[in-house]
Amino acid sequence: MRLSKYFVPTLKEVPNDAVVTSHILMLRSGMIRMVGAGIYSFLPLGYKVVRKVSEIIREEMDAIGGQEFHLPALNPKEIWEETNRVEAFGDTLFHIKNREYVLAPTHEEIMTFHARNVVKSYKDMPQIWYQIQTKFRNEPRPRSGVIRGRQFLMKDAYSFDTSWEGLDRSYELHDKAYKKIFDRCGLKYFVVGASSGAMGGTGSEEFMVNSPAGEDTVAYCESCGYAANVEVATSRVRVREREREEKKVYEIHTPNVKSIDELCEFLKIDETVCAKSRVYINDDKAVLVLMQGNDEVNETKLEKVLGGNIRPAHPEELLEITGADAGSIGPVGYKGRIIADMKLEDRNNLFSGANKNDYHIGGIDIKRDVKDIEYADLKIVKSGEGCPNCDKNLEVFPAIELGHIFKLGTKYSNSMGAKFIDEKGEEHPIIMGSYGIGVERVIACFIEQSFDEKGIVWSKTLAPFHVHLIGLNLKKQEVADACEKIYHGLNSQKTDVLYDDRDAAAGFKFNDADLLGMPIQIVVGEKKLKESKCEVKIRKTGERFDVDVGDLNNKIFELLS
Ligand code: ATP
Ligand code: MG
Repeated sequence: MRLSKYFVPTLKEVPNDAVVTSHILMLRSGMIRMVGAGIYSFLPLGYKVVRKVSEIIREEMDAIGGQEFHLPALNPKEIWEETNRVEAFGDTLFHIKNREYVLAPTHEEIMTFHARNVVKSYKDMPQIWYQIQTKFRNEPRPRSGVIRGRQFLMKDAYSFDTSWEGLDRSYELHDKAYKKIFDRCGLKYFVVGASSGAMGGTGSEEFMVNSPAGEDTVAYCESCGYAANVEVATSRVRVREREREEKKVYEIHTPNVKSIDELCEFLKIDETVCAKSRVYINDDKAVLVLMQGNDEVNETKLEKVLGGNIRPAHPEELLEITGADAGSIGPVGYKGRIIADMKLEDRNNLFSGANKNDYHIGGIDIKRDVKDIEYADLKIVKSGEGCPNCDKNLEVFPAIELGHIFKLGTKYSNSMGAKFIDEKGEEHPIIMGSYGIGVERVIACFIEQSFDEKGIVWSKTLAPFHVHLIGLNLKKQEVADACEKIYHGLNSQKTDVLYDDRDAAAGFKFNDADLLGMPIQIVVGEKKLKESKCEVKIRKTGERFDVDVGDLNNKIFELLS
C-alpha cells in the first residue's frame, strides 16, 4: 500500500478529549475517529487490525468445532421479553422508537431461539455456535475510546449440551481456545474466577489485562496466579496474638481526634491496635462494623454477610444511634448488632471511640467487653498483603475485561422452552454456555501494553503491515526506483508493505513510521544506495543495521518468521 494514496490521517498532537493511552494512539495513528459518544469509525488502517484479530479468533473457534453464524442486530422485542431481559438490561438496551424492536446487546436470546427450533434430540448435540458481530449497549459513561463503546464488535459463542459434564467440556474447550487467542495476539493477561452472579450460571471466568484504563480493580498474585475482583478478593489474614498484660478499660480525653491517623499520632500507638467503627443501616436496622486500623469496609462482602441492602448511616443517624459523631464511635457500650473483621478476632488492649465526642477508650478486650460480636472477612484487600493461596504478596491494580466464559446452565433454555429428548425419550432443557470476546478491546488492550513515547509497537501478528518502507528524497530517481523495486519484491513474497512514497521531509516520515508502529522499518536513502545498501530498523528495540538491497527479501523473511 502506498501511503500517498492510503487514508491514514495521523495527528501530531494529542486530541484533547482522549486520556487513555490506547485511545490517544488509535486516534493519532489514524486507526479510528469518533462519530459520537461511544461511537467510532474504524478507518482503513484500524480495520486491518480488526480483521487480523477476527481471523485469529475464527481460526481458534473453528479449531474447537465452532460454527460461524451471522445473527441480526435488530431483534424483535418479544424474544427479549421471553427471558425478562428487556427489564434486566434497563437503560443499557437500545430501543427502536415506535417499533417493537431492540438493538441486541448480546445474543443469548436469538441463539436459544434457533436452538429451540432445530435442536430437538440428544443426537443434535453438542453444538458450538459463534459469530463476530456488532453489539449495541447504551453504556452510561463511554470513555476510553473503543474499550467501552456504545456499538462494538463481539465474538460471542454459545454451547449447547445434553449434560452438565458436556457443558464442562464445552467450557474447557473455550477456556483453552481463549488462551490460544490471547497468546497469539501477544497479550499479557490473567484469569479471574468469578461466582455465577446475576446471570444464573454455575461458574465463569474473566480474562483480564492490567491497565490504568481499567474500570475493574483486581487483586493478583504474580507467583501463583491467584486473581480476584477486589469486591470478592481475600488476603492472608494474620490475627495478632492477644497481649499478655490484661488491661482494664479506660477513657482518654482526645480533643479533635477523629481519624485513626490522628488517634495514632495523639497516643503514639500503632494503627493495628485500633478498632475503627463504621455504622451501616442494614434494611432498617443499624449495624456497627469494626475494622482494624485503616482497613476499609468492603461493602460487597458486608452486604453478603448481612443479607438485604446496606448503606452507611447519615451523620444525624450516627448521633442518634451512638450518641457521638463519626470519629468517636466504638463497640464498648454500643447496643445493637456488632460485626468485626476477622483481624480483630478475640484481640485485647485495643483502642476505639467512646461513643462520646472527643473521647476514646483504651484497654478494650473484645472477648470480655463486647458481647455477642460476630466476625467475618470484611476488608478491602490492599497491595502488599499476603496472597491467600501462597506465601507471596498480592498486587492490586485496575484491569480491563477482554473476555468472559460463562456456564449459563438452563437459564435461557428454561425461560424460552428450548428442550431436547434424551435416549430414554425424556424431555430436558438444553444446557448452555456463553463465551464473549470484545474484538476492539483486544486491540486497545494490546496497545495499552505495547507502546512507547513515539507511538504504537505492533507485534508481527497484529500489525496492519509487516514493513514500513521509507523513501528519503524520492525526487532522486535512483531512490524512487530502488523503493519501487523493494516494494514489489516484498509484496511478491506476501510481505505486507506500507510504502511511504509521499513527498515529505525525512523527519516527518520517521515520526509517522514510529507512530504507526509496524514491526520493521526499511529506510532507503541516496547515500547508502551508492553501496547498494539500505537501513533496517526494528521498531520494538530501536536496533538498526544495514542490509544489501539484494539480500533484503531474505532478511525480511527471516525477521518475520
Ligand atoms: P464490562 O464489565 O467491561 O462492561 P461486560 O461484563 O458487560 O463487560 P460481557 O457482557 O461479558 O461484558 O461481554 C463480553 C465481552 O465484550 C467483554 O469481555 C468485553 O471484552 C466486550 N465488551 C463488553 N462491553 C463492551 C463495550 N461497551 N465496548 C467494547 N467491548 C465491550
Ligand atoms: Mg458491561
